[in-house]
Amino acid sequence: MNPIEHIASRATQLGEGMIVHRALPTRQRRMVGAWCFLDHAGPVNFAEGDAMRVGAHPHTGLQTFTWLIEGEILHRDSLGNEQIIRPGEVNLMTAGHGIVHTEDSVPGKRLQAAQLWIALPSTAAECPPSFEHFPDLPTWEQDACHWTLLAGSYGDKTAPAAFHSPLVGMDIRSLQKTMITLRLSPGFEYGILPMEGECHIGQEKFITDEFAYLGTNLSQVTLVLESGSRILLLGGEPFEQPITMWWNFVGFSKEYIAQAQKDWENNTPRFGAVKDAESRRLTAPKLPWTT
Ligand code: MN
Repeated sequence: MNPIEHIASRATQLGEGMIVHRALPTRQRRMVGAWCFLDHAGPVNFAEGDAMRVGAHPHTGLQTFTWLIEGEILHRDSLGNEQIIRPGEVNLMTAGHGIVHTEDSVPGKRLQAAQLWIALPSTAAECPPSFEHFPDLPTWEQDACHWTLLAGSYGDKTAPAAFHSPLVGMDIRSLQKTMITLRLSPGFEYGILPMEGECHIGQEKFITDEFAYLGTNLSQVTLVLESGSRILLLGGEPFEQPITMWWNFVGFSKEYIAQAQKDWENNTPRFGAVKDAESRRLTAPKLPWTT
């Protein structure tokens, strides 16, 4: 088996006052398959009146993928969608050419979620924006764990969301200390993030929010999970085309990103607006290169 990389996630401020652990991208690893961003939000117990509040911000060239573990988040976007996401559900927003959204959790409530981005291949990067909500995912009990298939296929099960690149995502929660073997596709690369508790992979131990990059050419991996642990498995075909990521934009050139930023700053019709959220429009940071 390949040596497993230990990648520490970075604690980062999100929106108006919440710390998240960012496992992708990091200096060591930019992507796992088409998965190009992974924030583990919480678990956090918000005080009375406090919440995760992310104001109106644009996206391009990606799909946002939200997996809700605890609490509730209200998604609103420039297509007019308003959707509350609850535990066990997935939201998939395809930004394509451009979209804007806000995300707000319920004040005073506990929250835990994984917020992921999936890079769109060049053939789909400029597609029209869309939004889908998936309340029913394949779940099952096996080897003293509760399994939820979030994306792609595993064994005879297939999650409902459609993607533009071959990928998989799975949440596994142990009910007691247990050993499990995951069946993997040799053509995929894989990463595992323990979101609660800890996970042993071979001789290696990974603690909460420490990302394990497994690499490619694996047909299985055996894990030992401590009681009450939760892991997120991500996998996909290595994404061949180099992407540029800046702020909330994904594209295939700096020029593309600079144009998207200009369109956002000039409030052009490209992105539209979230109803009643103009006062909560986020300002893009200055581009890190000169144009
Ligand atoms: Mn967003």
